[in-house]
Amino acid sequence: MKALVNKNTCIGCGICVDICPEIFEIDPQGLSESMVAEISSYYLPDAMNAASACPTNAIKVL
Ligand code: SF4
Repeated sequence: MKALVNKNTCIGCGICVDICPEIFEIDPQGLSESMVAEISSYYLPDAMNAASACPTNAIKVL
C-alpha cells in the first residue's frame, strides 16, 4: 500500500508528520509528501491514522 498526498488540499499543518514521521515529511514548499513507495505493514496503522487525522482529507492510503 502507498500513501498519496494531494498537495492541492494539504495545508502543511504537519499533523501527519507528527503521527507518522516514518512515512510523511514536509517538503521545501511546506506541504506534506510521502517518503516511501510502499508502506510496510508495521507502519500501516500509523499511516492510516495520519490520513484520518488530516484536517483536509488530503491523504489517501491505497
Ligand atoms: S495532516 Fe493533511 S493538511 Fe496537514 S500536513 Fe499532513 S497532509 Fe497536509
